Amino acid sequence: SVPLSYFGGIGAASKKGILVKGSNYLEGLTQVKTVVFDKTGTLSVGVFDVVRIDRPRESALSDNDLLALSAAAESYSNHPIAHSIVKAAEDKFTGNKSESVSAASAASAVTAASAAIAASAVTAASAVTAASAVTEHTEYPGFGIKAVCGGKTVVIGNLKLMDLENISVPDLPDTGSAVETHIYVAVDGVFEGRIAISDKVKPDSKEALARLKKSGIEKTVMVTGDTDKVGRAFAADLGLDDVYTEQLPHQKVEALEKIEAETKSVNPKSKVAFVGDGINDAPVLTRADIGIAVGGVGSDAAVEAADVVLMTGDPIQLADAFDVAKKTKSIVY
Ligand code: ADP
Ligand code: MG
Repeated sequence: SVPLSYFGGIGAASKKGILVKGSNYLEGLTQVKTVVFDKTGTLSVGVFDVVRIDRPRESALSDNDLLALSAAAESYSNHPIAHSIVKAAEDKFTGNKSESVSAASAASAVTAASAAIAASAVTAASAVTAASAVTEHTEYPGFGIKAVCGGKTVVIGNLKLMDLENISVPDLPDTGSAVETHIYVAVDGVFEGRIAISDKVKPDSKEALARLKKSGIEKTVMVTGDTDKVGRAFAADLGLDDVYTEQLPHQKVEALEKIEAETKSVNPKSKVAFVGDGINDAPVLTRADIGIAVGGVGSDAAVEAADVVLMTGDPIQLADAFDVAKKTKSIVY
């Protein structure tokens, strides 16, 4: 039987915008010693600005062409990186400041019908969003996208994906800030450029992490699919205790199991919570002692897989969840 106060606790949590899917999870939260976080969309805003496009050499494709093709390839993906690249292209090619894309690239980005429109000096807005532009589309979680856009094969993602596709990437200068994520783009098997994008930590992430430490969380860890350089820069900025980088979706579950074993070797009763927002995070949310989904921008799959949902996505809600759990327990016992 469940002590009555736990129902009060669930109500108190819901008033703060925190959905707790059962009183056992409220009690479980009081036993959490380690909190494991996803990066993108959880501790970071998850909205990337396109800061630069690095091109290795002269190419028939202009920067605008490359961006339009990249956006077309990303147009079916729900990944925050995909949304950001599509938005950058829309911003560039629509509205007052719109820039036009050459007829040649429009033809590559769209089917014959919309190419005809593009050729008549209409901007590439329709090219970017035209679903008809993409005739094939495969998403490789943790890697990127391979798509056929207007007959051209576009491979867009990280260096691991370029390796898998046997695309040789020249040495590019290591410019920009440490938190820049690099997205590599190849067209018909030839590397064409690198899109530098950057995300920011959420305004309340640091305060939330400080409150967690005060409420008895002993260890905070980030597990991310991003590169070692970017992952470490974020973790250092946030003052996290540990970070696992370059983790493919299935490796995130293995990382969690390792962290859980470490935590329980100190005290078998202590629990590990995982906090994440993406479709990729669903397996880890399910596997963790307590899975906590960041709502708001987060995916439905994450919300469904989680035991606790932070409805607004503000990391302060995470600290609130631990406080409500503690208070409820002090009433029960
Ligand atoms: P995170 O742990 O930050 O949520 P993911 O596991 O979703 O990251 O992705 C890891 C990496 O894979 C990204 O940093 C990016 O380099 C690449 N990637 C994944 N999906 C895409 C995509 N749709 N477009 C481009 N790159 C992608
Ligand atoms: Mg994420």
